[in-house]
Amino acid sequence: MKPVAKRATPAAIAVLRQATALVPKRKKASDGLLPSKAHIAQNPNSDHNTGLAADLTHDPHSGIDCSIIFDKLKADKRVSYLIFSGRIWSAERGERDYTGPNKHVKHLHISIKEECANDISPWFAWMGTPKPLAKVKAKVTPKPKKKETPSPKEN
Ligand SMILES: [Zn+2]
Repeated sequence: MKPVAKRATPAAIAVLRQATALVPKRKKASDGLLPSKAHIAQNPNSDHNTGLAADLTHDPHSGIDCSIIFDKLKADKRVSYLIFSGRIWSAERGERDYTGPNKHVKHLHISIKEECANDISPWFAWMGTPKPLAKVKAKVTPKPKKKETPSPKEN
């Protein structure tokens, strides 16, 4: 069994965060980073154990369509393999039927290469850039100077 990491890698966390930034109202029911106990028992050598995997909930209605993302991410150099809807793709072997017990119809599984663990560049570049969170534009008003509180006088 692969030892279970305490936290997911930045690259894996970025998958879910960036998807949410692009589609804030997306469903997250099948999102996942680190494995649950049941998951460890079922798949003791999962890339989730090392934090090098992310599960992204399939929510085509909101714009997170994992069949499109499955195809697009084949071009992402960070991906070691993808599983969605009964299909698996890896850089080494291409796309084929996935015969594992879980067909992955509710989420896309993304396994990330170890050397890319810290690469948080955009995962969904074709979907555009998320709107920056209400940033205050460069109108800087100087903070009023703190009035010095007079030290309490003792009479
Ligand atoms: Zn997974």
